[in-house]
Amino acid sequence: MKNIVLFGPPGAGKGTQAELLKNKYDLVHISTGDVFRFNIKNQTELGMLAKSYMDKGDLVPDQVTIDMLKAEVNNNPDAKGFIFDGFPRTESQAASLDAFLKEKNSGIDGMVALEVPENLLVERLLNRGKTSGRSDDQDESKIRNRFNEYESKTAILKDYYQKQDKYYGVNGVGSIDEITSKLEEVIDSL
Ligand code: AMP
Repeated sequence: MKNIVLFGPPGAGKGTQAELLKNKYDLVHISTGDVFRFNIKNQTELGMLAKSYMDKGDLVPDQVTIDMLKAEVNNNPDAKGFIFDGFPRTESQAASLDAFLKEKNSGIDGMVALEVPENLLVERLLNRGKTSGRSDDQDESKIRNRFNEYESKTAILKDYYQKQDKYYGVNGVGSIDEITSKLEEVIDSL
């Protein structure tokens, strides 16, 4: 199994790159943001709960997110591995993921992080908001709050994976193809 955490702040390009990489490596792509949005669209209980946090740009509570992630993994028993996109986002989520994969005699092979300066991220998100229909991409104060959440709860995961010697930073500025090639170089080495 090859399990990759694709990491980076909102707007770094995780979703775009994950879609390309999953085909090349035959991995299952799990985006917790996409799963939440699917639940919101289908007006499930989970969706209604998640919406109240997502609309503000806040993180959804850990336990809800962790349970959902585990269910997604368990729904894919034949997967050759996973690309986790937007998960983990807190230290508690990272520790739960490690424990969960360990039970399956597996683990995270590497965290590959897309590094992009914040001014470029805001521009990308506002542009995406014109077509994504995502309210959290259309309002600069919500975008700023997502960055605050990222800085205060998520950015420390760099240390978490660095301590395990599993952190790989990649420059996330450039053409989509250029960035994909750099990510592939890292993933091929894992
Ligand atoms: P994303 O599509 O990854 O930008 O996520 C959109 C929103 O979904 C975030 O701003 C959070 O409100 C929520 N979300 C997605 N993944 C997580 C996670 N791992 N933990 C908590 N909230 C999450």
